[in-house]
Amino acid sequence: MRLSFTEPLKSALPIVKRLREHHFEAVFVGGAVRDSLLGLSIKDVDIATSARPEQVLELFERCIPTGLQHGTITVIIDGLTYEVTTFRQESAYEAHRKPESVRYITELDGDLLRRDFTMNAMALAEDGELYDPYGGVQDLQSKTLRSVGDPDARFQEDALRMLRAIRFIGVYQLTPAYRTWRAISRHRALLKFIAMERVQVELDKMLAGAAPQRALQYTAASGLLYHLKEPFLEETEFSLKEAGRSANTARQYSCLHMLGAVDLRWAALAIGLQLSVEATQQALQVLRFPNSRSKTISSLVVIHKEMLNHLEQEDEHKLKAAWLYIVIRFGKRPASDWLAVMRTLHESPQSFSSGLLNRLDSWLSDMTISTLKQLEISGRDLSNHLQRKAGPWVSERLNRLLLSVALGELENDKHALLHQASKWD
Ligand code: ATP
Ligand code: MG
Repeated sequence: MRLSFTEPLKSALPIVKRLREHHFEAVFVGGAVRDSLLGLSIKDVDIATSARPEQVLELFERCIPTGLQHGTITVIIDGLTYEVTTFRQESAYEAHRKPESVRYITELDGDLLRRDFTMNAMALAEDGELYDPYGGVQDLQSKTLRSVGDPDARFQEDALRMLRAIRFIGVYQLTPAYRTWRAISRHRALLKFIAMERVQVELDKMLAGAAPQRALQYTAASGLLYHLKEPFLEETEFSLKEAGRSANTARQYSCLHMLGAVDLRWAALAIGLQLSVEATQQALQVLRFPNSRSKTISSLVVIHKEMLNHLEQEDEHKLKAAWLYIVIRFGKRPASDWLAVMRTLHESPQSFSSGLLNRLDSWLSDMTISTLKQLEISGRDLSNHLQRKAGPWVSERLNRLLLSVALGELENDKHALLHQASKWD
């Protein structure tokens, strides 16, 4: 089978050609081959070669010895980076993750054999000819995820492959081959050897993929999350178990893919699982989420919990005031993100009616101002006017003014604002 090269492969072609001119074997491997077969855009280009790392270093002007001990050199051409890795075989694995040593070999076959799944164990030569010794094309056609070689051995060697398996199942909408799936259930306890940072990367890719709900179902079915190196709060464990069992899970998360940003998908997951704010923050911390992301996600859970308190509010004006006050405190963006999340969770026990969401949405878009900066007076104006020393009362009073303006009860005009503030004094 012959493939035509798309852009990232075309620009990497000179690397393969140069290695070949120097009588080394060199081919494209990994995700780039898989994704070009599927007609998808290529994220990163990996090249495998019989040249040893020091020989690769000699052939290219701009290189970074990124993973010299594993035989990987990053070659830079026109500002773009490509990973060139020497064909290798891995020795016995240490702690179910890292091979104790790697041995360079001269044969491509041996290198493909160490790769995780058949669809990741294909090679593409410089003339576009596909080399597929383990039936990756057929598996991709039948949408099957299959380990290369004996699945039991492969997951025991490197437990991270179990999470990669579920990620590929979700992203490429595959079904695992029977033996591959059985081996995952059998060896899931080995996940305790995997660093939480790696778990986070895989879960994040799963959730960001084309079929996050599929990845969630398979994650739940695999039971992998009960074997993490660091457990979640008990509350989280409980809801994950329930979510795994519940027949509604699939329906509840069936619209998750409609949320563009992965952090909104995480927030939808936490809300759907009915996690408390504390459990959400703790789970994100266990997963080593950076603070900024953790804040974004958990603030949507906070908004949700506050809105749950107003769900029964029958007084339209009070409901609107409560909502606008949330928008003022959290910002327009998080508020509309929460609305987007709620629209995808329409089958959830947590859901709000679409009529209510529409009203909240239109109140949000009608807001003429939502930040203190937009208010026509400053804190200093206020304390001068009232002849009182600045203190916490200033921001409390400004926020109250802001809410009144946002509700359309007060004009955003210096005189009107100061007049109102003095009435409250
Ligand atoms: P993506 O880049 O989309 O995450 P990928 O398949 O390219 O997917 P990489 O982590 O970039 O994944 O790895 C490149 C290739 O290296 C894989 O396609 C696979 O052949 C091999 N590989 C990566 N991780 C493992 C692993 N844990 N076990 C075996 N082979 C692996
Ligand atoms: Mg890759």
